[in-house]
Amino acid sequence: MRGIGESFRVLLGGAPRKQKRDEFSKEAQEMHAFKGQPEQRKERIAKIREEMEEPKLSFTHTSFKWRKWRWASILLINLMFVVSFYYDVQLVEGALTASRFFGFHMADLNSALQITLAHKQIVVNLVIGTVTVGILWWLVGGRTFCSWACPYHLISEIAEMMHLWLASKTWIKDHPLDRRMRAVLYVVFAGLAFVTGYTVFESISPVGIVSRALIYGGGVALTWVGVLLFIEVFLIRRFWCRYVCPIGMTYGFLGTVSPVIVEYTLPDCLHEGECRKVCLVPHVLEMTKKNRAEDTTLSIGADCTRCGMCIEACPTGALNFKLRGTGGLL
Ligand code: SF4
Ligand code: SF4
Repeated sequence: MRGIGESFRVLLGGAPRKQKRDEFSKEAQEMHAFKGQPEQRKERIAKIREEMEEPKLSFTHTSFKWRKWRWASILLINLMFVVSFYYDVQLVEGALTASRFFGFHMADLNSALQITLAHKQIVVNLVIGTVTVGILWWLVGGRTFCSWACPYHLISEIAEMMHLWLASKTWIKDHPLDRRMRAVLYVVFAGLAFVTGYTVFESISPVGIVSRALIYGGGVALTWVGVLLFIEVFLIRRFWCRYVCPIGMTYGFLGTVSPVIVEYTLPDCLHEGECRKVCLVPHVLEMTKKNRAEDTTLSIGADCTRCGMCIEACPTGALNFKLRGTGGLL
C-alpha cells in the first residue's frame, strides 16, 4: 500500500486507489509485462488449476499454522485476568479494557479516550496506562490487539466459520455494508461520551462485555453479544469488527507506523485471490489483484490485524510477516 497517507485513508473507509501504470516502479512494470506474456499466462493458469484440485483443509480455505498460536494467545491473555481474580493473585487486576499489571496501570486506548471525554479531565494514571499500552501494541503491529488478544475476535471467528459454511451451502449470503460507517461511528461514540458524560460505547462493546463476563461472570449484557453473533452468522460477515468497532480502528492508527507488517511479494503471486477470501479486511489486499501492485514488494495497510490467515492461505508464499525496513522474516 502506498505510504502512510493512503493506508490511513483506507483505514477510515476509503476505497484503495488504483494507480496509473506509469506511476508504478520500473521493476513492477517489468514484472507485470512479464506475467502478461502468453506463455507465462498459460503457466500461471495451469498452476492455479493444479492448486484448486488440491484438497482444501477446510471450507475456510486455510490451515491453522498461525491461527493456533493466535487462539492460544487470546486464551492466555484473558485467562490471566480470570485466574488472577479467582485466586486473588493481585498481579493482574481489572479487565482487558483497564487493568493493573504488577501495580502498573494499563488502559485500552479507546476506553481511555471515552473516559477522558466523558469526565472531561486528564487522569495521570490513565495517561501512563494509555502510553504503555500504546507503545506495546505499536511495537507488535497495532491491530495485532484484535487478532491476538481480543476475546470477541475468537468468538467472532467461530461465528465467521459458521457463516462461511452456511454460505458455501448457499443457504445464506453476506450483506456487506459501507466501511465508512466505522469512522462515522467512531465520532458518534466519542461525541456521545462528551455530551452525556457517560461511556456509552463501553456498555455496548462486546470486548468489554465478554472480558468482564469471563472474569466476574455473565450477565444480561451477554444477550447483546448473542444478537451480534446472530447477525454475524446469518447476515453480515464480521459485522462488528468490520463496520463498527472503534477499538480496532484506534489500534489501526498505531498500525500505520508499526514496525511489524505483512509484506506482499509480487513475483511470487499467482493472483488467484485465496488471501482475500479469508481476510477480515480484504481491502488491504487490493494489490494482490492482477496488475494492481505498484511495486514488487509492498507492505499491507494499517487495517491489517496481523492475523496471518492470508499467509496460511497463500499457496505460493507471496505474503509473509516482516519487520519494516529489514529483510527479516519473523
Ligand atoms: S475490531 Fe474490536 S471487537 Fe473486533 S477484534 Fe478488534 S477490538 Fe475486538
Ligand atoms: S491482510 Fe492477512 S494478516 Fe492482515 S488481516 Fe488480512 S488475512 Fe490477516
